[in-house]
Amino acid sequence: EDSSSIAEVSRETLRLSDVGGLIEVKRRIHETFLDPIAHPEIAKAFKKSLGGGLLLYGPPGCGKTYLARAIAGELGASFISVTLADVLSKWLGESEGNIHKTFAEARQKAPAVLFLDEVDAVGGKRSSQNSQSLRNIVNQLLMEMDGVGSDNDGLFVLAATNMPWDVDAALLRPGRFDRMVLVSPPDEPAREAILRGHLDQRPVQGIDLEVLVRKTEGFSGADLKHLCDTAAEKALAASIKSGAVQPVSMSDMNRALKEVKPSIGPW
Ligand code: ATP
Repeated sequence: EDSSSIAEVSRETLRLSDVGGLIEVKRRIHETFLDPIAHPEIAKAFKKSLGGGLLLYGPPGCGKTYLARAIAGELGASFISVTLADVLSKWLGESEGNIHKTFAEARQKAPAVLFLDEVDAVGGKRSSQNSQSLRNIVNQLLMEMDGVGSDNDGLFVLAATNMPWDVDAALLRPGRFDRMVLVSPPDEPAREAILRGHLDQRPVQGIDLEVLVRKTEGFSGADLKHLCDTAAEKALAASIKSGAVQPVSMSDMNRALKEVKPSIGPW
């Protein structure tokens, strides 16, 4: 397998309407990104540039990747995901060339969303790479970004970070990732959608979603998954012990709630 090649992906079918809650986040994504792309003539009249990318920032496990996929779905685009921290560690001295290759391949698959996860990794503050090689990587990214969004280009670049303060300042200038959207921890409707997603595929009985939603303030998407997995483990253990399926109950959920705590602080 050619490890420097980006993954083959099909056209994304997820839509923003599949993302539960987060009304304000979705409104910002429409206003700053999707709507101008959908109405290029109006955008032009207002001197709104269609170039550059969108940076999603916020605590880990709160759906940035999920939202990015939904944005690709809205654009009728393919979704191509690259984790920049992996690029640095895997490709060592060849990072610039591979960044170029990744962008070139994404352009070939246009319309495509290229998703750069952990974009802070090239900011230098948390990397062990020497600063010159990081500068080269950032410069390569800037060069690629400067060609994004021109007419009929069909390449859309999204980036994500949990550490917006570590993102290289040059990447945030106009024409680059100049639009930023905070993806905060899931609100009540989002938590309901996430919990539903994890419980729907399991035998459950007497689950009061409304109560769970209220008790999980501050939980990330990843925490909610952990909570449901923990409760399911308890029901599974009881089922094995009794020799008959014991559906996940509210008491399993409450016991899980004693063990699983939110992993993120206030944002
Ligand atoms: P991040 O990229 O912010 O670290 P993530 O994109 O990996 O996070 P999680 O928040 O861990 O996403 O979500 C994991 C899964 O939970 C998603 O793949 C999706 O199935 C579900 N999920 C997350 N947020 C929502 C939401 N708002 N509505 C519905 N399902 C969601």
